[in-house]
Amino acid sequence: MKKKWGEPRSRQDVEAQIPESYLAKDPEAQERRKLSFLLQESAFSEHIPIFCIIDIDLLPAEEKALFDGYGIEPHAAILLGQTIAEPFLFAEQAAPGNRGDRISSCAELITLGYLMGFREKIEFQGYKTALIPPSPLPDAKLSHMMAASRKGVVGRSQRFLAGEYGAWHTIGLLLTDAPLMGGDYRYPDVTCDLCDGCRACLDACPCGALTDDGYDADRCHGYRNNPDNQEHASTHTVMKCMRCMTACDKKRIKELLK
Ligand code: SF4
Ligand code: SF4
Repeated sequence: MKKKWGEPRSRQDVEAQIPESYLAKDPEAQERRKLSFLLQESAFSEHIPIFCIIDIDLLPAEEKALFDGYGIEPHAAILLGQTIAEPFLFAEQAAPGNRGDRISSCAELITLGYLMGFREKIEFQGYKTALIPPSPLPDAKLSHMMAASRKGVVGRSQRFLAGEYGAWHTIGLLLTDAPLMGGDYRYPDVTCDLCDGCRACLDACPCGALTDDGYDADRCHGYRNNPDNQEHASTHTVMKCMRCMTACDKKRIKELLK
C-alpha cells in the first residue's frame, strides 16, 4: 500500500477535506463510516495497491450521470486495481480449465478477483452491486468515471492516469447502493495536467488509433487482433499491442507530482 505523492499530509489538511455529512453523529453517518472503514481495512490487509471510494451522491450532475445505466441506483463506486510493473501481465491466455473459451490477461484476472471479493463483502451486508471490469484498452468513459475519484486524470491516451502510476495499472469499479464515505484523504487530489505537453502515447501508437481527435477503437482492435502484429510468448499466450500504456513515463509524472 505504499503510495506517496506530493508532501506528507498534515492532520489539518486531511480533516479540512472531510465533508460535514461524514462527521454527523446520526446512525446513518455512523453506518456509512463503519462500512467504509471495514472495506478500507480489508483493502489494506489484502495489500490491494489501488483502492479508493467515490461518493457518487456528492458529484456534480454531469459526473453523476456517468454512473447511470448499470441496473442499480448507485450511491458509491469503489475503485480496485493492480499496478503493473511488467507489461507481460497483459499477455492474453486461455485460462486453465476453460478450454480456451475466454481469453484474458493475468492483470485482468487479478483485478477481477479483487472486485469479486468486495462484491461479496458488500452484498453480504444486504446492498446491491454492479461490477465494471477493467479494460485493458483506452476507454474514455471508464477513465472519466475513475477521474471522479480526484486521484488521477484522463490522459491524452484516453486512459486513466492514476497519480504517480500513470497508465501502468488495471482498475475496475464496483458500483453499490451502499452509502459509503468517498475519498482517500491520505493523498492529495491530483489537480494538474499529467500529460503536460507529452505526446508519447500518440507517437507510439502504430496504427493511428490514437490522435489528437481521440481514440478509434475499431482501428486499435483491427491492429491488435491481426496475428502479424502479435508476439507469442508461449503456445497459449499472445502479447498484443499495449504501446500506449508502456509509453506513459511514470518517472516524468512522479516528478510533476512532487
Ligand atoms: S493500437 Fe496499441 S498503441 Fe494504439 S491505441 Fe491500440 S493498444 Fe494503444
Ligand atoms: S504517454 Fe504522455 S500524453 Fe500519453 S497519457 Fe501518458 S503522459 Fe499523457
